[in-house]
Amino acid sequence: MTGLEKRSEQLRRLGVKKSITRRDFIDGIAVTAAVAASTRVLAAGDPGEAASSPQGAPDYYPPTLTGMRGTHPGSFEAAHALRDGTFPKSGTIPIDTGEQYDLIVVGGGISGLAAAYFYRAKASPDARILILDNHDDFGGHAKRNEFKLGGKIQLINGGTLGIDSPRPYSTVAAGLLTALGVAPVALEARHADRELYPSLGLGSGVFFDQETFGEDRLVKGKISSAAFLEQAPLSDTARRDILRLETDPIDYLPGLSSVEKKTRLSRISYRDYLLSLVKVDPSVIPLYQSRTHGEWGVGIDAVSALDVWPFGFPGLQGLNLDPGSAPHMGYTPAGYADGGSYKFHFPDGNASIARLLVRSLNPQAVPGGTVEDVVTERIDYGRLDRADDTTRIRLGSLAVSVSRIGPAASREAVEVVYSRMDRLYTARAKHCVLACWNMMIPYLCPQLPEKQKEALRYLVKVPLVYTNVALSNWRAFLALGVSRIYCPGSFHSSVQLNPVTNIGSYRAPRSPEEPILIQMMRTPCRPGLPERDQHRAGRAELLATDFATFEKKIRDQLGRMLGPGGFDPAQDITAITINRWAHGYAYEYNPLFDPDWLQGEAPHEVGRARFGPIAIANSDAAAAAYTDAAIDQAHRAVQELLAG
Ligand SMILES: Cc1cc2nc3c(=O)[nH]c(=O)nc-3n(C[C@H](O)[C@H](O)[C@H](O)COP(=O)(O)OP(=O)(O)OC[C@H]3O[C@@H](n4cnc5c(N)ncnc54)[C@H](O)[C@@H]3O)c2cc1C
Repeated sequence: MTGLEKRSEQLRRLGVKKSITRRDFIDGIAVTAAVAASTRVLAAGDPGEAASSPQGAPDYYPPTLTGMRGTHPGSFEAAHALRDGTFPKSGTIPIDTGEQYDLIVVGGGISGLAAAYFYRAKASPDARILILDNHDDFGGHAKRNEFKLGGKIQLINGGTLGIDSPRPYSTVAAGLLTALGVAPVALEARHADRELYPSLGLGSGVFFDQETFGEDRLVKGKISSAAFLEQAPLSDTARRDILRLETDPIDYLPGLSSVEKKTRLSRISYRDYLLSLVKVDPSVIPLYQSRTHGEWGVGIDAVSALDVWPFGFPGLQGLNLDPGSAPHMGYTPAGYADGGSYKFHFPDGNASIARLLVRSLNPQAVPGGTVEDVVTERIDYGRLDRADDTTRIRLGSLAVSVSRIGPAASREAVEVVYSRMDRLYTARAKHCVLACWNMMIPYLCPQLPEKQKEALRYLVKVPLVYTNVALSNWRAFLALGVSRIYCPGSFHSSVQLNPVTNIGSYRAPRSPEEPILIQMMRTPCRPGLPERDQHRAGRAELLATDFATFEKKIRDQLGRMLGPGGFDPAQDITAITINRWAHGYAYEYNPLFDPDWLQGEAPHEVGRARFGPIAIANSDAAAAAYTDAAIDQAHRAVQELLAG
């Protein structure tokens, strides 16, 4: 066989050429084009033009799109051109919609939707609000992926999953959940089923890949158990050191107080802590390298030993650290040490919270009336942007300029220019909340003071990918006894069966014979660099990786990992959605690389200052990648505007 023949045989075995659900909409480009083509086009300048758009088409329903989602094609190119100074083309004159609002919100994520909610509550229930978002769906990171498998709907989060946070929810954030009918503790007790997988004998496992560990092997069980280590393809030295690390309550910083230990731990990476203080053999490191990916988007080389302590990482159990927060800035472990906040999540993650917010703003668009039925109701996207509604949500609309206009003081207003379907439009408002990403704001608002723009540019969002794969059955998981797999050396560093939540009329699959969704997570990073540089490098890599490459990697990884359980990637994979978040989590300061700023001088605090009738929300404004932060910042921004 020639090299070429071998390669095509390998692709055939993986099923790469097999057509899967909407597989031919590679990269989502065809989808965008198809939706755009079905749009009625009005004459330029017609005030109704803005409302007539893809989202008005009868079959417009982005949650069911597969292929490249998250930052999908069509959502970001104009923003990058704006950054590069090539957009808009000189001489382009925006079409004046003539629309006048009380508030324009840039960004339709949880923070933007919450800002609209708070503004209506505080300014007036009749306030006229326009929400602009560059994606084809609302919710920002809180995105819903919906599949029809075996005739039934199955849901999974495309981004934000849980209502968890290292802090207890603030009164404001908890109050908003309550107002929306979300009582996380009661919902968890009523609807989550954490027992199904364990009752079938499924637990956690680790996949050792050949490239990193010398052979492919899936080992079930906990790393800390001798039985697990016996089966792991590791040297005797590595096994011995891992057992000591995991189980021995040794104080590796004797003679220091708890505060002194925390200070020391906050300045050393967990990797260096393991090597220089615990003194493990270097061959131990690859097993732990990716364990921090899910939380921080970088490996243990770029996360402090203090930050991993509340997560129960091994080697810290003998230090007798006092519970409570760290004496230095960085990720505050207080919340997790105290048990964090809520466990509950909807089957589509916080997309259901975004839906509840939209329902409260525009009940016509989201049928039903309970926190349970919001999960299965079909949004009427055609109702989101209608002139007769007080709140309008305009999708596929990228704000490219936000400027203060009019005389100073009380009669000052805001003009927003946005790009939609290759055209520019203007709309005006009394107030504007920028609930979009910090690094975008200097391009939108060149009028901002230089110091503020510099601060806004400081935070580099964390790139990450949630890949959701539909399988025709999950017999292989049953045969191998796993529901969650950590894959320290693989392209995706974790794989798990969709957690079970049954709510309203929604039912998760129970039998391994039924189709199911699995979630795989990848965080592109470049170990060895400072954290923000790792994110920049990862983002560049992500944007350069096409769907076909992802698909090959997914099929290869699942085949190698689950093959011994009878899994056949060519037969068992029926759909793939890649939620690519090039700009994912808000950046949280890292004590290894960032200075200890004085109160009020940290970049997120300087960056979020109100600018006349423009205020800044979004989780970036809290330097905290959590839903409660997104809500709290929305509340602050609205308060600032109304007080101002
Ligand atoms: C994969 C992933 C998983 C996560 N999991 C969790 C979790 O489990 N729990 C948790 O609490 N948090 C989680 N988060 C963090 C999440 O970011 C926050 O919880 C929250 O959803 C952020 O909301 P936001 O509105 O502040 O920002 P976003 O959700 O990012 O929304 C901002 C919106 O503004 C849009 N925008 C930007 N620029 C413009 C412009 N110029 N014009 C128009 N629109 C613009 C963006 O495209 C985006 O849609 C997760 C994040 C990611 C990426």
